[in-house]
Amino acid sequence: MSPKPTLRLILGDQLNAQHRWFTEVDAATIYVLMEVRQETDYVLHHAQKILAIFAAMRDLARQLRQLGHSVHYIAIDEVASTRTMPENIEALIRHYDACAFEYQAPDEWRLDQQLYQAGRRSTIPWLMVDSEHFYTARHEAADIFAGRKQWLMEFFYRQMRSTQQVLMEDAKKPVGGQWNFDHDNRKPWRGTPAEPQDSRTLHDHGQLWQSIVAAGVKSFGAPHADRLAWALNRDEALQQLDAFIERALPHFGDFQDAMSSKAWRLFHSLLSFALNVKMLNPREVVARAQAAYHAGHAPLAAVEGFIRQILGWREYVRGVYWAHMPGYAEKNFFGHARPLPSWFWDGKTKMHCLSQAITQSLEQAHAHHIQRLMVIGNFALLAGLDPARVHGWYLGIYIDAFEWVELPNTVGMSQFADGGLLATKPYVSSAAYIDRMGDYCKGCHYDKKARVGERACPFNALYWDFFHRNADTLERNPRIGMAYRQLEKMDAATIAAFRQQAATMLTRLDSL
Ligand code: FAD
Ligand code: SF4
Repeated sequence: MSPKPTLRLILGDQLNAQHRWFTEVDAATIYVLMEVRQETDYVLHHAQKILAIFAAMRDLARQLRQLGHSVHYIAIDEVASTRTMPENIEALIRHYDACAFEYQAPDEWRLDQQLYQAGRRSTIPWLMVDSEHFYTARHEAADIFAGRKQWLMEFFYRQMRSTQQVLMEDAKKPVGGQWNFDHDNRKPWRGTPAEPQDSRTLHDHGQLWQSIVAAGVKSFGAPHADRLAWALNRDEALQQLDAFIERALPHFGDFQDAMSSKAWRLFHSLLSFALNVKMLNPREVVARAQAAYHAGHAPLAAVEGFIRQILGWREYVRGVYWAHMPGYAEKNFFGHARPLPSWFWDGKTKMHCLSQAITQSLEQAHAHHIQRLMVIGNFALLAGLDPARVHGWYLGIYIDAFEWVELPNTVGMSQFADGGLLATKPYVSSAAYIDRMGDYCKGCHYDKKARVGERACPFNALYWDFFHRNADTLERNPRIGMAYRQLEKMDAATIAAFRQQAATMLTRLDSL
């Protein structure tokens, strides 16, 4: 008699073909992957996000079968896709008469709880194992920041550099004598050097897209199912990493914060999807960047800037997430409650910066950091949009959006809704910053310099109105003293005029 099997669940963001689970083929192990409605429907997702995750799951299932592993795959057109994950697991345990169930630690609190609760009801052994992806454990950041009111990323990052010995001369001294080259990384881009070619592989997943639509899954954004550009397996992700290191990394630092209506990728890696679904390990990405510096291929400012995003920010926001869940998604420091303007869903606004950033997000399921933070998020905060609804939008639209990374970035860094745990100041600006970092203001319906009047850039009056209305809570923040000193110099009539301008705009956000 053959032994009873063990079931091992692989979630859609756990596509790590190098996990130690797969080192040996064992006839008594069945790998389970599920395309289920609970995952397509917990928020309204971008079409490419659903498509790319399912296509990548199918690719991993194919690879595992090729290696001789047993796989049970639930596709979106099967009845089982309408059941919850625990319902399917229970049914499969009965079906296979399984003797044990194993799963990798989920990165989202929602799934972590769901599987933990299902385990408590289970009559067979139920084991959670490491996903073997991150540098840090879920609660490591909380340990590092124990007792501190503010969680400074820089403090965490330096610890990571030292403990992981990344870009270090010795145990304590950073390469180049400096930890951070952020100040060198703020150049606008004027067309040179040219944006590297987009070398990503295009896939035709028209049939899968038809099944998704036929199953009744709702989505938004352009599916581009016949030319899906996201890496769907490790080989493709590695090719994308090669191309980034070779062509874009040397310029990553200089133009990290730049925005352009002519080049949407600029020198960014577009690796966040491959990283977040775990086709790539952050260690290998960091090691490749570090090697490029030592080989003289890329300058230190670029390499440090890139590594800081992965070794610093990415691990740090994960730590913030696990330390503050549940409850972080409901944070609303300013009590903002406005719904999203209609143009968040179609990009049709006269504000050129927002129209560009949102249209690009709908088309590509991607926007780079400064577009997310200093255009879309900036407007959302200045206009007092409800942070929970802003969070839902970001969680849905971006190809790389998984709650552990999206939520702290949106609610904490971008909307300051946690009251300054994560960000040292609200990330807001008037038109001046957007104009300095890109070309959006040229050709905009609005006048970037004007504060009041029909054609005045909405960012200007909203910016001053934001600081004015929040003086009680923000005035003492040393990082924004300058804004308050400028406000003090304004006469009462000027302040009344921009407050009136802001109030009028806030009543007609849909038509801006
Ligand atoms: P690059 O610019 O090439 O950076 C390299 C890598 O660094 C990225 O692939 C990513 O893994 C990591 N990284 C960079 N910045 C951050 C950051 N702030 N936090 C965590 N990791 C970072 N990133 C996500 O992966 N998922 C999200 O859902 C997400 N939501 C965001 C929401 C808001 C409001 C903001 C301001 C930022 C968000 N980010 C998110 C961070 C960042 O915008 C994206 O990681 C980046 O744009 C992905 O594109 P890229 O791979 O070309 O990044
Ligand atoms: Fe955006 Fe204002 Fe510039 Fe127009 S003028 S692109 S709305 S910042």
